Amino acid sequence: MTDNLLEQEAQRLYKSLGQITRPDGQKYSLAYCKKLAPLTSQINELKKQKNALILTHYYCAPEIIFGVSDEIGDSYGLSKKAAQASQDILIFCGVSFMAQTAKLVNPSKKVFLPPTYAGCSLAQSITPKEVEDLRKKYPLAQFICYINSTAEVKALCDICVTSANVFDIVAASPSKQIVFLPDIFMAQNIEAFLKAKGIDKEIIAAGGTCCVHDKYTLKDIEVIKQKYPQAKIICHPECRKEVCQASDFCGSTSAMLKYVNESSAAIFAVLSERGIIAVLEQQNPTKTFLPTGRTCAQMKLNKLEDILEILKDDTSVPEVKVDDIIAQQALKSINAMFKGAKK
Ligand code: SF4
Repeated sequence: MTDNLLEQEAQRLYKSLGQITRPDGQKYSLAYCKKLAPLTSQINELKKQKNALILTHYYCAPEIIFGVSDEIGDSYGLSKKAAQASQDILIFCGVSFMAQTAKLVNPSKKVFLPPTYAGCSLAQSITPKEVEDLRKKYPLAQFICYINSTAEVKALCDICVTSANVFDIVAASPSKQIVFLPDIFMAQNIEAFLKAKGIDKEIIAAGGTCCVHDKYTLKDIEVIKQKYPQAKIICHPECRKEVCQASDFCGSTSAMLKYVNESSAAIFAVLSERGIIAVLEQQNPTKTFLPTGRTCAQMKLNKLEDILEILKDDTSVPEVKVDDIIAQQALKSINAMFKGAKK
């Protein structure tokens, strides 16, 4: 690639990334973008040659999101994009359960996760055996799993949900008794939501918590309100119930983006992964975002260098695979979600 083309690529990156704060507190300078340009330009060129699609979760690094991605989104949006993809290769920048979901919804494609394996504290919090035991204990319950679960767990549940559709799907459940897994805090938030709507359901929670969102406490909210009384506080439903209830807005990642983009407020405290704050900064250059983001270390395992390796030689990296029988069962719960979701 000529110096001229690399300069153009650096300018393109700077235009997209210049507003964003890096994890070290610095902005993406033009000098930093010049360092990224050789990598992003090679990836973008090879992506066309190999007929590959790069899907990236909002929590990944901004240079992946704005440098090389074709689709960016939350779990729900990306699972729909993966299902519709016509390319031969899907490179999913996220964590393992997301890449697995892409393989489930579009099994004929070669699917890759750049770090090969990236865990999620929620997906790892429950085993198939524990779900089987719950099935025996609650034979009449509908089993609803959050998308942050393994294919094996999805295969044992009736319907899958994401934070973008969980409240609607649970409210519309034909069953009075629901086992919701593997996010205990989200289960508590659903219970509060249903109670406020006067909907009578018994929610049995199982699993664990998101190790990023579970760190926010009411104390954080008190400190923000004291120092920045005019700030709007927004959070994700993976946060504790009391945090969600004390916030100005609680919603999925895409709902948070919509809320901020449509809000006339000037200052926001976003209680979520810092990647979403980078996207908000990029989309809202006149608004201020307090440094309240936390880091999901597993999401940050996705690197430009590894994306390039996959594109250079996809036989050198293991593909994401799911056992056929588990895939068939897990797909049923995902398709039930697509059918039940309003959008
Ligand atoms: S932010 Fe939480 S829920 Fe999302 S991948 Fe990381 S650990 Fe899992």
